[in-house]
Amino acid sequence: ILVINKFGTHDNEKLKLVNHTYELIIETEYFLNAVKDMETGQRGYLLTKNSDYLEPYNIGSKNAKESLQKLKILTANEPAQLELLEATEHFLKLKVDELQRTILFTKNKNYDAALSLVKQNIGKAYMHRVRDLLDQFISKENNTLHLKKLDLEESNQNTLYILRISFFVFLTIIFFFLYRSLTQNKLLQIANTKAQEAVVTKSEFLANMSHEIRTPLNAIVGFIDLLKAEVKETKALEYLNIVDKSSNSLLHIIDDILDFTKIESGKLEIDMINFDPRLDFGICTHLFDAKCSKKNITLSLNIDQNIPHYLYTDAFRIKQILSNLLSNAVKFTPNGGSITTSIDFIDEKLYVSVKDTGVGIADNKIDHIINSFSQEDSSTTRNYGGSGLGLSISKSLVELLGGKLSINSELGSGSEFSFYVPAQIAQDVSLELEEVEEENTLSGIVLLVEDNKTNQMLMEIILDELGFDFHIANDGLEAIEHFKNNVYDVILMDENMPNMGGIEATSHIRELEEKEQRKLTPIIALTANALKGDREKFLNAGMNEYQAKPLDKKKLQTVIQKVL
Ligand code: ADP
Repeated sequence: ILVINKFGTHDNEKLKLVNHTYELIIETEYFLNAVKDMETGQRGYLLTKNSDYLEPYNIGSKNAKESLQKLKILTANEPAQLELLEATEHFLKLKVDELQRTILFTKNKNYDAALSLVKQNIGKAYMHRVRDLLDQFISKENNTLHLKKLDLEESNQNTLYILRISFFVFLTIIFFFLYRSLTQNKLLQIANTKAQEAVVTKSEFLANMSHEIRTPLNAIVGFIDLLKAEVKETKALEYLNIVDKSSNSLLHIIDDILDFTKIESGKLEIDMINFDPRLDFGICTHLFDAKCSKKNITLSLNIDQNIPHYLYTDAFRIKQILSNLLSNAVKFTPNGGSITTSIDFIDEKLYVSVKDTGVGIADNKIDHIINSFSQEDSSTTRNYGGSGLGLSISKSLVELLGGKLSINSELGSGSEFSFYVPAQIAQDVSLELEEVEEENTLSGIVLLVEDNKTNQMLMEIILDELGFDFHIANDGLEAIEHFKNNVYDVILMDENMPNMGGIEATSHIRELEEKEQRKLTPIIALTANALKGDREKFLNAGMNEYQAKPLDKKKLQTVIQKVL
């Protein structure tokens, strides 16, 4: 815009200059004409003695003076030109004096004196000087005009040059911004990808870590179970119970970490089943009876009378959320308090609320405690323990199920944690896998594919107690060899193993069965981390069921019975 204006300014300046010069030329012409009028008037008067000729003389004289003044004003800023005009003025004055004197002589009828003065040609000489000076004046003016024009043209050239540079700079700036925005987008994309990769890496790390912890824990929990059946001495049993409780707490934390990981990486699987809300919520709530009676807390459960007999939703997750809320309520309610669980069913939505008379939460901390790893303040862990994961998992689970979790709390008076989730009334009631109560009802030969020696030992005992014969393979390759030479009723297949993993081994086994036209052997995957998609992965590989570790006798019996 500046450049274009500058162009415009130059054009204007040029026009002004030209106009100025023309004005001077015209004014000079005008001046010379006025002087001519003066001379004509004087001559006419001298010749005719007729005073009428004095009028053009007077008008000419007046105009000439005015014209000269105008020229002086027009060239006020040009000292050299002004000097020429002043010289012209001087000679004009002399010329006028001479004309005036001849007129005066004539007026006084002194014609000879007038004639002699004219004959001296002094006036002519003055007039020459005037013309000469004005010629100089005009030619100077033309020169200036020419120079200024050149100057302007050069300046226009410069402007063009500036315009080109500006255009180039403009293009460079546009290019720079485009480049920057592209690079910023690219950087953002990279940062995004990196952040996503970081989440995946973290999730994978946490999943692997919980898998690694779960595997030895599996053995600990399993052997404690077995030991508890063997040990009779009270003190030893007491110690075993402590170890049992601690390993279960550890298992609980690992479960939380695994759930958190699954939620964060979007791998949590919703498992819809038919369930009996009265029975399941009853069991879930009464699991806290012992803890409550220890603290003298009154625990009550109000179930809406109109609740359907069976509902279809992810019962496991809903019970997990309820357990978490109840566990917190017990933890944060002092001795002698009360906890009330209410279950309602309205418009295809299941409403669950846990109300306590506990310590409550400060208003400004409510949003904070919902975040992962957050507690009300740093003293909470010291006083009550906990990882700060429970509520954030609960909230995420509720939202995954399509519901909402709300908190109502007053510091010092108690809290109410409530949530709703959509649930359908189950028409066809076929309850999911009931645990088999009876023991030792099974028989057959099992191939256990497991690389971990401690877990092998534990499984040997469990399988033995369940009444199975078994072979052990340390990895997938060994499993294939065993399979080639034997017929098994069930194969228990670990997932992560050296040399060959469970999924690959299963594919080979299925191929062998097809090739040799053998009947299908049920294969149960045993996995320490059941992430979303794993089930499909196992089933696609040709497995029939999958079970998360740690496995106890009952769980194993149930799942084997199911596939058999
Ligand atoms: P954790 O209980 O393992 O610390 P949670 O995510 O379950 O983790 O709870 C986070 C925090 O929320 C708790 O540490 C506590 O400060 C607060 N909180 C949860 N439930 C209650 C409750 N019923 N009464 C008072 N505070 C609670």
